[in-house]
Amino acid sequence: MAISEKPALLVSACLLGSLCRYNGKGELHEGVQGLMSRYTLVPVCPEIYGGLPTPRVPAERKGDRVLGKNGEDVTAQYEKGAREALRLAQLYHCRGAVLKERSPSCGSGQIYDGSHTRTLVSGDGVTAELLKAHGILVFGESEIYKLEKLIDDMERMCYTI
Ligand code: SF4
Repeated sequence: MAISEKPALLVSACLLGSLCRYNGKGELHEGVQGLMSRYTLVPVCPEIYGGLPTPRVPAERKGDRVLGKNGEDVTAQYEKGAREALRLAQLYHCRGAVLKERSPSCGSGQIYDGSHTRTLVSGDGVTAELLKAHGILVFGESEIYKLEKLIDDMERMCYTI
């Protein structure tokens, strides 16, 4: 299969080992790396796209806002980064995304509650929420198998229609 024929998947850049996390770290995730043979991976880091530095003050969602541990409101930066991630997802026709779990940008299904006490609540990061609102399937790195099954099923349906 030629690279251009592979379906595109959006992925959090830190899962590919980019050193873009708030603490200046990143880690190549084996499962995400394993997707490379089958998909064209499109790495994004919404927090960098939003104009935030690395390393940066950790932030968490609190209601509609995103607040740094120092109290700074960084909602605008998170929203800007989310819009850029969505633009790239649409440019590459990504139907799915594998995003870093629990992040205030990339987290899907569970995020920290805004108290900076590592307390998890149901919810999505700002980017995951925007992608989902535009019909993109979002999964965390521990859910790669679910994403692959869904895309397989969708492709099978396309071939049988
Ligand atoms: Fe990783 Fe997403 Fe945070 Fe960037 S914004 S460091 S890609 S979790």
